[in-house]
Amino acid sequence: MDCLFCKIVNQEIPADILYEDDLVIAFSDINPQAPFHCLVIPKKHISTLNDITEQDRELVGHMVATAGKIAADKGFAQEGYRTVFNCNNHGGQTVYHIHLHVLGGKPLGWPPYQDTLKTPV
Ligand code: AMP
Ligand code: ZN
Repeated sequence: MDCLFCKIVNQEIPADILYEDDLVIAFSDINPQAPFHCLVIPKKHISTLNDITEQDRELVGHMVATAGKIAADKGFAQEGYRTVFNCNNHGGQTVYHIHLHVLGGKPLGWPPYQDTLKTPV
């Protein structure tokens, strides 16, 4: 399977790895959208959130817990941060191996559904 994030898991392409265990790895986003921006991904290939099954319960919970641990380690857990899963076209997903964005270090904007996007469908 030709998957960019599987290649990072298999060390076929380099990444700035911040955390790794049996189930997940976390690495810096190549195009950061906040002072701190990393991605937590499962080692197992899952294409989108729509492909998560009941068997992935623990894995997905572990991804979220890992994001929280990274935020605590980096020192911005108390100030706050954002975690995001983008799914498919409307969600803005560009890499089809699920990943949890972890963004922090400054107040982040909200909401993501901007006025310029509010055209009639
Ligand atoms: P998404 O748009 O939610 O699918 O997010 C994909 C993210 O992967 C984007 O924020 C990209 O900047 C990031 N990305 C793409 N290629 C790499 C890479 N080789 N190493 C690290 N991050 C990457
Ligand atoms: Zn993959």
